[in-house]
Amino acid sequence: MHPMTDDILERDAKVIAGIEKLRFFPIAPVGGEGCYLIEADGRRLLDFSGSWGAAGLGYNHAAIVESIGKAARSMASASLLSYVTEPAISLAEELLAILPGNTPRKVWFGHSGSDANDMIVRLVQAVTGRKRFITFHGAYHGGISGSISVSGHSSQQHSRAQDGVVYLHYPDPYRPQFDGDLVQGVLTQLDELFATSCPPDEVAAVFIEPIQSDGGVIVPPTGFMKALEQRCRDHGIFVVVDEVKVGLGRSGLMHAFEHDGLAPDIVSFGKALGGGVPLSAVVGPAEIMDFAPAFSILTTSGNPVAASAGRAVLRTIQADDLIANAASVGETLMEGLRQLADKYALIGDVRGRGLAIGAELVRDRDTREAASLETKKLVYRAYELGLVLFYVGMQSNVLEFTPPLILTKHQAAAGLQTLDQAFDDVVNGRVADEAVDDFAGW
Ligand code: PMP
Repeated sequence: MHPMTDDILERDAKVIAGIEKLRFFPIAPVGGEGCYLIEADGRRLLDFSGSWGAAGLGYNHAAIVESIGKAARSMASASLLSYVTEPAISLAEELLAILPGNTPRKVWFGHSGSDANDMIVRLVQAVTGRKRFITFHGAYHGGISGSISVSGHSSQQHSRAQDGVVYLHYPDPYRPQFDGDLVQGVLTQLDELFATSCPPDEVAAVFIEPIQSDGGVIVPPTGFMKALEQRCRDHGIFVVVDEVKVGLGRSGLMHAFEHDGLAPDIVSFGKALGGGVPLSAVVGPAEIMDFAPAFSILTTSGNPVAASAGRAVLRTIQADDLIANAASVGETLMEGLRQLADKYALIGDVRGRGLAIGAELVRDRDTREAASLETKKLVYRAYELGLVLFYVGMQSNVLEFTPPLILTKHQAAAGLQTLDQAFDDVVNGRVADEAVDDFAGW
């Protein structure tokens, strides 16, 4: 390892809190360009994670750099609270323009998906006077109080949900939680809850991830989201869709909820929206968003620099046809992973939409026992060979692919070749258990 990398990893362990669950291998990039990160010794790493999806346009993208630079040079304030600035207003208009439908809507800006979903939790409780929420086992909506409280992810055992939150099974075609029709199984579970412990008129909203990402990149069966939406509408329950990780083109459509023809009341955006700069947004019906003045105040949210980055991201996604690119390069990647699954029994399932892809690793294809240690070794070995990817899932056994939307087919093929080697090395015992001891991961 380069001495500079050694040094910074040592300093990291000393000064940054809570890293044990978050470091997957000794990566310490000093730069980035396109789909690549650059290490201290100049080694270039192909990044199939894209910083957990936050680098939606990759690194050092010219349009984002130019837009941020221009905004920082003119610096028309650092806040949207009491300063009206062109970048924020234009970004709000542009976000509204990409949402289907033409009912009056308004936008709130924040810094991360976590605060966007947190804002929604408080808002819908205040608007409806209802306290309860419906969410899913494995859901991840953020890392601060309100958004943790509607999440159900194993990484958040330290902070439990607020009272009144009910958890449904997120229908998992690879690990079906019900016999027979999965969608019906979940709806029956919901009906039972409504009839017993969770009266529907106490429920403010349902939070839906169109693909359950951190829970294991689970793609629900077609029709599930729509059926759930209908059930909730029958009871005046708000439908909130979290597009933070898989929205803005990643799934092969502008919005992942469009795959099921959903018409959400409220949508949260984050990660890729800022192109690497902290930025999130909530879009919802005007009368709800205006419910109380100054409902969620964050001084620097929607500031000109972050908003300018967001504008560059939306403009580039549309001008460079990155949604079509996500669909077609995603197909290449998925096909390549399926070929690897033909070769390595360790891969139990490959699934996804566009450039939101998961590969679930199992010790045995019949029992589907989670191959958590092997998954850890796989991402470690891939890193050694020059490829960055992480894993997700309640059992830490799902490789997650959320590369920048600018990924080319050529780069996808190169990454697949590296993965092939990494699988070969793991399967043939060439990665020692001790190699991954220091990396607890997700
Ligand atoms: N929603 C979803 C679906 C996510 O995947 C995440 C992060 N993994 C969040 C919200 C929270 O976003 P952030 O960590 O940027 O606050």
